[in-house]
Formats: sequence, structure tokens, C-alpha cells
Amino acid sequence: MTKPVVAIVGRPNVGKSTIFNRIVGERVSIVEDMPGVTRDRIYSSGEWLNREFNLIDTGGIELSDEPLLVQMRQQAELAIEEADVIVFIVNGREGITGADEEVAKLLFRSKKPIVLAVNKVDNPEMQEQLYEFYSLGMGDPIAISGAHGLGLGDLLDEVIKHFPELDEQLYDEETVRVSLIGRPNVGKSSIVNAILGEDRVIVSNIAGTTRDAIDTPFSRDDQDYVLIDTAGMRKKGKVYESTEKYSVLRALKAIERSDVVLVVLNAEEGIIEQDKKIAGYAHEAGRAVIIVVNKWDALEKDDKTLQEFHQKIKDHFLFLDYAPILFVSAKTKQRLHTILPMVSEVAENHNLRVPTNVLNDLIMDAVAMNPTPTDKGRRLKINYVTQVAVKPPTFVLFVNEPELLHFSYERFLENRIRATFEFKGTPIRILARKKN
Ligand code: GDP
Ligand code: GDP
Repeated sequence: MTKPVVAIVGRPNVGKSTIFNRIVGERVSIVEDMPGVTRDRIYSSGEWLNREFNLIDTGGIELSDEPLLVQMRQQAELAIEEADVIVFIVNGREGITGADEEVAKLLFRSKKPIVLAVNKVDNPEMQEQLYEFYSLGMGDPIAISGAHGLGLGDLLDEVIKHFPELDEQLYDEETVRVSLIGRPNVGKSSIVNAILGEDRVIVSNIAGTTRDAIDTPFSRDDQDYVLIDTAGMRKKGKVYESTEKYSVLRALKAIERSDVVLVVLNAEEGIIEQDKKIAGYAHEAGRAVIIVVNKWDALEKDDKTLQEFHQKIKDHFLFLDYAPILFVSAKTKQRLHTILPMVSEVAENHNLRVPTNVLNDLIMDAVAMNPTPTDKGRRLKINYVTQVAVKPPTFVLFVNEPELLHFSYERFLENRIRATFEFKGTPIRILARKKN
């Protein structure tokens, strides 16, 4: 479930973001649709030889206005802490610089596997440039050209050799993995502490768990949960941890590992772009989502406040119309006890299977109510529907021409499915396949 993390490090202009974009490819997504240039995409997923991984471009994390060397040190530190494999990129056209040596020195101290890539080796005649990089003491340098897409396969072959074994499964299937995401100071740690302090909550003794002691397993009413990345929420202090992009990165990692994501907002501050971006990622990743509006105590309220806030959330998170919204206060504990039952409910929906016959009846009724779309005289014909996956529930329509299933009709079918099964808190997916 957990994908290995690969971090790209190196001084500015060696080609980190070019290589990042090459590896992740062009992927259309809500997150990436947001304003901002390539540099905004510092975290994405890639795949090589059927191994999926997440890639971080540390150069995209503007840490501070500190001098270059300090920034590079922070980026290297971040990579050492977060990554399973580090790709260290140098520039074959310029040779080794003092800054490269600095980075190398830092990386040496970590125990993480490092792969050295010499970029801008745009043609075979330039291969000789490779030799001087042996002196960095990082083993065989791999020649690549981000601009021309050369050598990336060799690089990725080397990278995946260092991935951890596939078969690790940290928690059993029934355990609901929950994460809280949101900007600093919205009250995530306060909520976590309050939940873990509830009478009926039994926090497991995690002394024995080594690798992921950053998570907190607990149970309540015979349901097992694990709070993902609790440590990341509490541990604050490193320079890079206060930067916005780092907190996004941390959130994305937590989302990857979760079943249910609590998007925490601060009632006093409203909603900003960053909140939408992260919530969009949770949606896109197919996670169940609950919106938690914290600090409800701190707001001046009249009889319209709740409704207005509700509407504001609906307007900002259009794609999350299935997500329940809870208004809580970690300070006064108001409605805090409703969080876990809601987590349990949406987790159940996230994992729900609809019997095939019920599903087919439902879709046929929907088609009778609103005929399938046509295009140039051809009409979409749905032969059969079946649910192929859970987490999130995913339905496949077997049809005559998949491209005839337009977004609006897909949306209509989704609404019909939700009219019967609600699927509160979980995205659902509808795919069309050609039936031969
Ligand atoms: P970063 O600062 O390390 O992320 O570097 P960028 O990816 O922004 O690249 C810096 C410059 O090097 C840009 O002008 C790129 O077009 C150029 N560049 C990147 N990869 C290559 C390459 O393989 N060959 C050549 N000749 N130029 C490259
Ligand atoms: P985090 O950075 O998201 O983990 O936020 P914290 O849990 O550290 O909380 C940030 C600040 O908000 C702290 O000073 C908390 O005491 C305060 N805070 C947290 N929850 C509430 C709440 O429900 N109401 C009020 N008024 N303050 C809160």
C-alpha cells in the first residue's frame, strides 16, 4: 500500500525539475490543474517496471531566503528524512562544483541508498565527462539527459533495486487508517489529543512497532483504527517543517496511506487555495473524506452562521459534495465525539459492495428515466454493470461505445446510485468498457 518515496536532490539548474517531469509524465489531475508552473508540482507518482513510487523534487521546496548552501542543506536533510531512495543529480557539462561536494558530504552521512545521475549528457560523445564524478564516492554515475529523455530507464532500474520488499502490510484489512490534514494551527494535534483521550478509546501500546512508530493505532467499540503520521503532526521544529510546500508534501504522503481523510479547516479563517488543493488530492486518490470545521467556539454566531458556512464549503469544494461536514471545537470538546462514529460510517461506505442484480436494476431504471446520450446518430447502450472494486467503490459499465458516456450522463448515473446507496463520505468511480 505504501509507495516508496524517491527524492531528487542537487544544486539549482542541474535539471531536477526537468527530470521530475520526465519521470512522472504528463498526468491530468485536479491538483495539477491549479495555477502555478511546473515548480508547483513537487510531489507526484511515477511507475517503472510495475513498481509504483512517489517522487519529490526537493528543489521545488523553497525553504527560506537563506543563502543557497543553507537551503541545499535543508533540502538534503528533507530528502534524507523522507525518502527511501535519493537521486543525486549533477551537471555533466559543468563538472563537480563546491556545492555538489557539499551536498555529497551531507548525503554521505545518511544510510539511505543514493543513486548518482550525471545530467545533460545529451549525446554519446559526452560519456567521458562521466569519469570525474567517480570521485564523489557514490559508486557508478549514470549518464542521463533530462532534456532528451536519455538514460532515464537505466536510472530507474537502479532506483527500484533499492526499494523495500513488496509484501509489507502494516495493518490488517479491517483497520481503518485515518489522517488529519490541514494547514498549521487549524487544530489537528488538539483534535488528535482529544480523540485519543476519550474514555472509550484504547490506545495500543506501540513500543514494539519500529518502522512506523509515527502512527498511532487505537480502538473504540471493537473497531480498530490507526492515526497516520501522528508524529509528523506533533513534531515541529525543523526549519523546513514550517514551510507551506513541506506541509503539503507531508499531507500528500499521509493521504496516500489513509482510508479516511479528515480535512480540517479553521472556522475563524475560512478556506484557502491550499485547502482545496489538498482536498482535491484526497478525492483524486479515491479516499473517503470528512470535512471538519474546528474552532467553532471561537466564532461569533447567529442563526444563519452554520448554514452560511455550510454553503461556503459546498461552493469551494464542489467535487466533495459527498463529504459530510462536522462543526467541532477541540477546545470545548463540542461535537468532538461525533468524529469517530462518522469515520467508521464513511469507512464502511468506502468498502461497500453493491449486489450486481440490484445495481443493474438501478441502472436500467435510471436509463428509463433519462435516456442514454447520442452522438451523430449513435446511442450509448449499456449492457451490463458490475462493481469491480472497493476503496473507493468502482463500477464498470459494459457498453457499445465507451466514448458515448459523457461526463454529464456519468454524473447522472452517479446521482442515481447515490440516491439508493448514498455512499456518504466516499467518492465513487464509474468506468465504461467496450463489450465485445
Ligand atoms: P533544476 O533547477 O535543477 O530543477 O533545473 P531545471 O530542470 O529547471 O533545468 C535547468 C536548465 O537546464 C533548464 O534550462 C533546462 O532546460 C536545462 N536542462 C535540463 N536537463 C537538460 C539536459 O539533459 N540537457 C541540457 N542540455 N539541458 C538540460
Ligand atoms: P495544528 O498545527 O493543526 O496541529 O494545530 P494545534 O492543535 O497545534 O492548534 C493550534 C492552536 O489552536 C493552539 O493554540 C490550540 O490551542 C488552538 N486550538 C485548537 N483547537 C481549538 C478550538 O477548537 N478552539 C480554539 N479557540 N482554539 C483551538
